[in-house]
Amino acid sequence: MLRIGSHLSSSKGYLAMGKEAVSIGADTFQFFTRNPRGGNAKALDEADVSAFLEYAEGHGIGQILAHAPYTLNGCSADPHLRDFAARTMKDDLQRMEFTPGNCYNFHPGSHVGQGIETGIAYISDMLNQILTPDQHTTVLLETMAGKGSEVGSTFEELREILDRVGLSEKMGVCLDTCHVWDSGYDIAGHLDQVLGEFDRVIGLSRLKAVHLNDSMNGLGSRKDRHARLGEGKIGLDALTRVINHPALRGLPFYLETPNELEGYAREISLMRERYR
Ligand code: FE
Ligand code: FE
Ligand code: ZN
Repeated sequence: MLRIGSHLSSSKGYLAMGKEAVSIGADTFQFFTRNPRGGNAKALDEADVSAFLEYAEGHGIGQILAHAPYTLNGCSADPHLRDFAARTMKDDLQRMEFTPGNCYNFHPGSHVGQGIETGIAYISDMLNQILTPDQHTTVLLETMAGKGSEVGSTFEELREILDRVGLSEKMGVCLDTCHVWDSGYDIAGHLDQVLGEFDRVIGLSRLKAVHLNDSMNGLGSRKDRHARLGEGKIGLDALTRVINHPALRGLPFYLETPNELEGYAREISLMRERYR
């Protein structure tokens, strides 16, 4: 069965997200752990979390994906911003222990002119500070489009971060179809080769989630503008091959397309129809 959902607003809590997911035909979802621009998280409502866990169990919702605020930059040139990123992620991971067994995705960061190597060193240092041997959450590096000075737009850069993390068994990768396309991996024309390269460089066993998005821009554009499925340059047939690829069987897929709930519901049912 295809496990698919969309990004949902976390403002009304976990149970509300679970019900919203079911209402659009999803069996998983992604959410921001706090305001996407950063800032303080609301106190965790334990009654809401346990009501959600029971609801999820009863409605077949599995492997939800938390997303760190996208403004965090673990490889900023400013030590205060690096420290803020580490503290925020550490706090998020503590909260994630209330919903054990899920994944937490983050953008590796932007090296802002310090160079890729410095960026990679700061990001892995941060991960070595915040990961713990007894955590029940897998932390995912997201493949990036390569906009500005983003780190993580090649499989090699992600591999290097993973290599430098001590508790690397707590780490994985989330592949964003729009981002890899924008960074120059031709998933529309050469999906087998791209996934083969992912396997060679990182290892497919590291791949824990897929962000399923079309792209407004062409291959290698490094822009990061998501489009609705079939309304971008990747196209519906290529995205259909993604969800049906044997190497990606069983992975959860998350829509981050520019949509309201009805649009997500349409895309979820479209992809379920196209799943073989
Ligand atoms: Fe993201
Ligand atoms: Fe994404
Ligand atoms: Zn994006």
